[in-house]
Amino acid sequence: MASIIEGKAISQKILADIKSSVASCARPPCAVFVRVGEDPASVIYVNQKQKIATEIGIKTSTILLPQNVECEMLLDTIRQLNEDTTVDGILIQAPLPTLEMQEAAFAMVDPTKDIDGFHSYNLGLLCQESDRGFWPCTPAGIVELIRSTNMDLTGKHTVVLGRSLIVGKPVGLLMLQKKEFANTTVTFCHSRSKNISHYAQDADLLIAAMGQPQAITADMIKPGAIVIDVGINRISDNNSEKGYRVVGDVDFENVKEVAGFITPVPGGVGPMTIAMLMKNTLLAYQRHAHR
Ligand code: NDP
Repeated sequence: MASIIEGKAISQKILADIKSSVASCARPPCAVFVRVGEDPASVIYVNQKQKIATEIGIKTSTILLPQNVECEMLLDTIRQLNEDTTVDGILIQAPLPTLEMQEAAFAMVDPTKDIDGFHSYNLGLLCQESDRGFWPCTPAGIVELIRSTNMDLTGKHTVVLGRSLIVGKPVGLLMLQKKEFANTTVTFCHSRSKNISHYAQDADLLIAAMGQPQAITADMIKPGAIVIDVGINRISDNNSEKGYRVVGDVDFENVKEVAGFITPVPGGVGPMTIAMLMKNTLLAYQRHAHR
């Protein structure tokens, strides 16, 4: 029976530590969120981030732009935030109306204010194993969860299911690093991979980030493996008031009988993502203060 990795509790401890560091800052660290349109999930995510930031003393504001905003106006807004010395961190809430606009917006953010860690400069620093950049928040949170197991993964096999730029690729690169928490051999699988079970069954650390509800079943798990479930999927549930419930990419109830450690959904990776955003905001403030 697996030990449950309690992401919620771990994130609360990290947030408490950030709060005490913020209390000794000369001024509150400041993050500005840019939201385009009224995508319901984006509204919820930005509100959640603002609420937690406020609780730990980080100052935030949100700039709202209409769904039909011209790309140039969005880029101008980001330019102004880049130049504003009172702003430490900038977050562009995805998705934006078009992929082109999203790529242009992420590229426009000053890399020293890129608290989401999505700028290609910061992804490049991650590839170089430099500590000067920002790690993307979800992968950074996953690393903290893995570290909480106190398992030595040196030479072990990490299998990442998913190759997106915000989760799959960076988390695989982090577990490849020549650092004490990592040093693993990494395999990436994606929608074109053949026989994913074959790779998953050999994983000492399995990170599922596919967005496929409960696709990872107990027969795909190596006994004792660490299983990190990143997926957030809604499935219909007539017993729930809302008519749905949220599940991960892993069949939690059965996989926990085989795995050594497992993250729940909700309450696993999700809370860590926001905690890491706060950590990046504090880091951005500290770096600006020491320039
Ligand atoms: P993307 O849709 O960008 O990427 C999904 C990846 O999974 C792609 O690389 C895709 O392959 C691969 N994939 C899809 N289906 C399969 C399959 N059947 N077998 C193998 N690989 C497959 O999603 P994200 O990376 O943004 O997010 C992944 C999941 O994590 C989602 O459920 C998302 O909601 C959740 N998430 C959770 C966060 C949290 O804080 N807990 C934060 C961010 C995301 P291909 O490249 O070939 O298309």
